[in-house]
Amino acid sequence: MAVGLTQLIETLDQWLQPGKVSDYCPNGLQVEGRAEVRRIVTGVTASQALLDAAVLAEADAILVHHGYFWRGEDACVRGIKKRRLQTLLGHDISLIVYHLPLDIHPQLGNNVQLAKRLGLQVEGPLERDSRNPVGLWGRLSQPVAAAEFAELIGRALGRQPQHIAGTGDLIRTVGWCTGAAQGYIDHAIDRGLDAFISGEISEPTVYAARESGVHYFAAGHHATERFGVQAVGERLADELDIEHCYIELDNPV
Ligand SMILES: [Zn+2]
Repeated sequence: MAVGLTQLIETLDQWLQPGKVSDYCPNGLQVEGRAEVRRIVTGVTASQALLDAAVLAEADAILVHHGYFWRGEDACVRGIKKRRLQTLLGHDISLIVYHLPLDIHPQLGNNVQLAKRLGLQVEGPLERDSRNPVGLWGRLSQPVAAAEFAELIGRALGRQPQHIAGTGDLIRTVGWCTGAAQGYIDHAIDRGLDAFISGEISEPTVYAARESGVHYFAAGHHATERFGVQAVGERLADELDIEHCYIELDNPV
């Protein structure tokens, strides 16, 4: 079965509501390819390796969390950007991107999907006074030792997190925000949570964890943001009867 590209984008916009958030990149169709989509490839980032894999897989469209045209990015088409766009345009493959809308969606989003993998019961938004909260906080069904929680994250994501120890022995309440949201540890501190999880880590995050007592787990930007696109791809395959294939490409960060 095939679906028209326009109908595909309309469906995704309806699910993910990009008009409701202010983002750092354009959401939706970033690069237009052929009018009919039979096979869609999903991946975390529209890197050259993902594009090449999508060409081999004979994809009509690629759906990612990290696309192009970020705010403040050099607008010229040269070098890496030239090769990427040439690959897409030369093969008539569409690039479809949802960034923040894919982090925050209540069923398909990266944050909710991560909670599922870690056995976290969602209580609500992490940020107290944001009009567009991105992170979440919640609870484990029973308290676990910090080292055990690190193991649990490692098993769920296939990658051992970097753990900056806080003060409590047991973890029950947890805040999380996928990607490069290490600065959001401040919201976890504000809520008095036992631990915070994000993807990346910065030098100041270490002191924030040590001095507040909140355990910090840097679980990987790529590793924490793999599940949203897969959930969307699976739903597309179910509801629009097109072929979906997620392509995992290792990224250690
Ligand atoms: Zn990200």
